[in-house]
Amino acid sequence: MEKFKLNPKPTWKELPIASMIPQPATSRFYKTGDWRSFRPVVDKEKCTRCGLCWVYCPDGAIRIVEDGSYDVDLDYCKGCGICAEECPVKAISMVEEVEE
Ligand code: SF4
Ligand code: SF4
Repeated sequence: MEKFKLNPKPTWKELPIASMIPQPATSRFYKTGDWRSFRPVVDKEKCTRCGLCWVYCPDGAIRIVEDGSYDVDLDYCKGCGICAEECPVKAISMVEEVEE
């Protein structure tokens, strides 16, 4: 997919006809995880693969891995902790980020 370039002040000549949105899901190009202060860590031993973290994550940052387990895409996770709160077996811990 061609990378969407955002011009914050486009001229009328640059706007698409009828100001249509040219591409859906453009937020994919904006890594929103960089202001996170806590990160979720999934304990794969405890995880029952119920998928509730995937359902509740407001940022779509929970990914289903090839082996059927769940993991976090830290490029987009904002560290809100909803997944840890909703996990019925408490398999997700929120761990403080450390600056390197
Ligand atoms: S909510 Fe918890 S148990 Fe369910 S898939 Fe997510 S980490 Fe696993
Ligand atoms: S901490 Fe929030 S944003 Fe990050 S994976 Fe969990 S629910 Fe999604």
